[in-house]
Amino acid sequence: MKLHEYQSKAIFAKYGIPIPKGSVAENAPDARQIAAQIGKKVVIKAQVLVGGRGKAGGVKLASSPNEAEEVAEQILAMTIKGLPVRKVLVDEAINIAREIYLGIVVDRAARRATMMAASAGGGEIEEVARTTPEKIIRVSIDPAFGLQEFQARELAFEMGIDKALVRDFTAIATGLYRAFVDTDASLAEINPLVVTSEKQLIAADGKIVLDDNALYRHTDLEQLRDIDEETLSEKQARKAGLSYVKLDGNIGCMVNGAGLAMATMDVIKFYGGEPANFLDIGGGAKADKVKAALDIILSDSNVRAVLFNIFGGITRGDEVARGIVDGLKEIKTQVPMIVRIVGTNAEEGRRILADAQMITAETLEEGAQKAVAAAK
Ligand code: GDP
Ligand code: MN
Repeated sequence: MKLHEYQSKAIFAKYGIPIPKGSVAENAPDARQIAAQIGKKVVIKAQVLVGGRGKAGGVKLASSPNEAEEVAEQILAMTIKGLPVRKVLVDEAINIAREIYLGIVVDRAARRATMMAASAGGGEIEEVARTTPEKIIRVSIDPAFGLQEFQARELAFEMGIDKALVRDFTAIATGLYRAFVDTDASLAEINPLVVTSEKQLIAADGKIVLDDNALYRHTDLEQLRDIDEETLSEKQARKAGLSYVKLDGNIGCMVNGAGLAMATMDVIKFYGGEPANFLDIGGGAKADKVKAALDIILSDSNVRAVLFNIFGGITRGDEVARGIVDGLKEIKTQVPMIVRIVGTNAEEGRRILADAQMITAETLEEGAQKAVAAAK
C-alpha cells in the first residue's frame, strides 16, 4: 500500500526528519487559507500515488494566497498518469541549493535493507539506476545492528555533504531507517532531500510503500488507505482477500497460487494470447471466493475468455468446481470458460464442470490453446 506524500512526511516528522510547514487541501479556497496561514511563498503539490508529478505540472510555486488559490484550482483539475487529483499539499516553499536522493528498499538477494543515496536527486531515481547506476551509493544494513552511525557518515562523505550538516544528515538517515522498520515498509524515500540556500537539510518530498502482508500489525496505518485511489476491482479484490492485478489482454485468468498464475500467463503468451489479469485466489479457496474472483474478472470488458487453472491441493477441485458453477448461475455471461483442474478431487471437479457445459482441459497447454482460440 502506497502512502501519499503528506502522509509519508507526517511519519517522517515523527522520526525527527525536518519537513516543510504545510497542510492538505481538497479545494482551492482551503489552499488559499493554508497559504495565508503560512504567510510566505508556497508550493502546491498534487497528491496522487504516482511519481514524476513535478514533470507533469503537478508541483507549482505560488507567491501569494491569491495565486495559491489559482494554482490549486488548476492542479485539482488535473489528471496525472490517469489519476485524477483530489487533494493538494500546500507547503512552505523552500530555497533549493541542492537536491539529494535518499531512500531505503528491501534487497531480497542480500536479505537486508539497503540505504541508497545519489547526488542526482529530484529526478526519477529509476532513470538514474538505469543509465548511471554507479552514481547511486548503497549501504547494506545489518538487521541486528540497524543503520550504524559510521554508515550514515560514510554516505554523507560520499555525497560530499557539508561538514556542518553531517550530524543532521546522520539523524535524517537514522530517522528514515527507523521509520522504514517501524512501519514494515518495503520502501521509504526522500526525493529530494534538499540542502537549502540557508544551509539546512529538509525533506521536500516523501514516499512510503507499506508491505501489505504486514498491515495487520498496523491498524493505524491501515486507516491511511486512500480508497479514492483504488479502482473498483482492486477494492473488490482486497475485500475478498484476492491478489489481483489488471493487465491489458483479453484472456481472464483465475488461478490458485501466485507461481501457478505466473506460469499460466506465460503459457497463454506462448500460444499467442494476452492475459487480462493476474489473479491468485489463494489456497483453500471456497465457493464464495471463486464467485468474487469471477465477478472481478468479468467486470473487465476486454475479457473474451476465462481460463481457470486450478491445482487441487488444499483447495479441493470439486469445491472450486462448485464455486464456478454457483458463480455462473448468478453472473450470467456469454464469455466462454475453459477449465483445467488437476490434483485433489480433480475428477469430480471436471465432472461437475462438464455437466455445466464448460470447456474442460486435461493439461495447461490444452487449456491455454483452447482459451486463446476462444478469445479470437
Ligand atoms: P515529484 O516530481 O512527484 O517527485 O515531486 P517533488 O515533490 O519531488 O517535486 C518535484 C520538484 O519540484 C523537486 O525536485 C524540486 O525541484 C521542485 N520543488 C518541490 N518543492 C519545492 C519548493 O518548495 N521550492 C522549490 N524552489 N522547488 C520545489
Ligand atoms: Mn520527488
